[in-house]
Amino acid sequence: MSNIVAIVGRPNVGKSTLYNRLTESRKAIVDDVSGVTRDRHYGVAEWVGRTFTVIDTGGYVANSEDVFEAAIREQVVIALEEATAILFVVDVTTGITDLDDDIAALLRKSKKPVLVVVNKVDNNAQQADATVFYSFGLGEIYNISSMTGSGTGELLDELIKSFDEEPVEENTLPKYAIVGRPNVGKSSLINALIGKQRNIVTPVAGTTRDSIHIHYNQFGHEFMLIDTAGLRKKTKVKENIEFYSVMRTIKALEEADVIVLMIDAIEGIESQDINIFHLAEKNKKGIVLVVNKWDLIEKNNKTLKEFEEQIREKTAPFTDVPIVFTSVTEKQRIMKVIETAELVYANRSKKVATSALNDVMLPIIENYPPPALKGKFVKIKYITQIKGTSPMFAFFCNLPQYVKEPYRRFIENKLRENFNFSGVPVQIFFRQK
Ligand code: GDP
Ligand code: GDP
Repeated sequence: MSNIVAIVGRPNVGKSTLYNRLTESRKAIVDDVSGVTRDRHYGVAEWVGRTFTVIDTGGYVANSEDVFEAAIREQVVIALEEATAILFVVDVTTGITDLDDDIAALLRKSKKPVLVVVNKVDNNAQQADATVFYSFGLGEIYNISSMTGSGTGELLDELIKSFDEEPVEENTLPKYAIVGRPNVGKSSLINALIGKQRNIVTPVAGTTRDSIHIHYNQFGHEFMLIDTAGLRKKTKVKENIEFYSVMRTIKALEEADVIVLMIDAIEGIESQDINIFHLAEKNKKGIVLVVNKWDLIEKNNKTLKEFEEQIREKTAPFTDVPIVFTSVTEKQRIMKVIETAELVYANRSKKVATSALNDVMLPIIENYPPPALKGKFVKIKYITQIKGTSPMFAFFCNLPQYVKEPYRRFIENKLRENFNFSGVPVQIFFRQK
């Protein structure tokens, strides 16, 4: 299920403020200076039970003036190709500028859903000013104030109408996406796996022309690989290479069951890698970390452990994730990557019998019950796994609101110790009974 919403528009209209509101991230920096480097440019948003990925294109624009407008126009083109829907943000306080007109012209050519978002409509008087934006010929306009949040509800109601229906899963093979920054060795890994059989690469119906799905069926392993490296698109503006690769990665990530996140051993794990990791975690995908180019590292008996600790520190609190150290060029541990992805896939699809859950977890809980709060005791009565694509557990108890985060974490760790959910996000709910 892949719904990606791109926020486009010229600088300073409020894209980043809107992004923050939709993803409720307090981390990204909003700055009056346009073109500032921001922390995170994509994240998960939710509205009436539908989750989708939002990408703030403003984060990918370079500082230099001469590439600025060309880069923005190209981003709109990329966003139109890759996203499910576009939020075209304009600013009521400035009215229509030339760059707004240029962007509108690009958007009019597309069949993708485009919503015109008139931002900074902070009061009623400005509602009237907003009507000039009908002249884009892009249909209805949505007046909002990203600052206060007013109008965003109606915008989101309309936005989710443009999403695809939940698809009926016609291909039930496990899907593994190979992702990672440029040059980590993604193409090399895929080549090593499929070798001369490149011709088995078949575009699968329902995916876009840019998304390569490879059907692997050899040596008793059968799965789909989603390749984000195979097709390298030429961008005219070099600043957009990262933007393009992020769009491709998000898309692959949403389609996949397990994310194989490749890291360069020389460079170590970087903020971009961690962003992808967290996005996979939020999307409840399985994760395998692959540290490639291990041949280039000078090793002693502590190297592996130190490397692992460094990764765990940066990916905390989700540390129950397998790490495979590979050298693709030396053909070291390539099949181990696949076997690990298969294991994580199995963990993600695992169904634990209610009897086994209760037999194991109730004595643990009895030994170490939730701490009493305001003199009240929480009594957990029974546990079941909830049906879903990733592991979810309901703990039925008398006072669910009294169970706090540290205890939830304790329960999660015990589930992991006893049932093996390595590489898989686990959700735990305390429910009234
Ligand atoms: P971006 O460059 O398009 O991402 O724009 P930003 O989100 O960085 O916002 C540019 C400026 O507009 C900042 O000073 C924001 O505080 C301000 N801004 C954003 N949304 C609103 C709004 O709804 N009302 C008002 N009055 N200001 C806003
Ligand atoms: P991609 O951009 O992630 O697809 O990366 P490529 O597969 O194109 O690899 C980038 C470069 O790294 C190429 O020159 C590869 O030969 C090299 N490379 C890939 N894997 C390894 C490895 O395990 N060890 C070493 N030393 N080089 C590697």
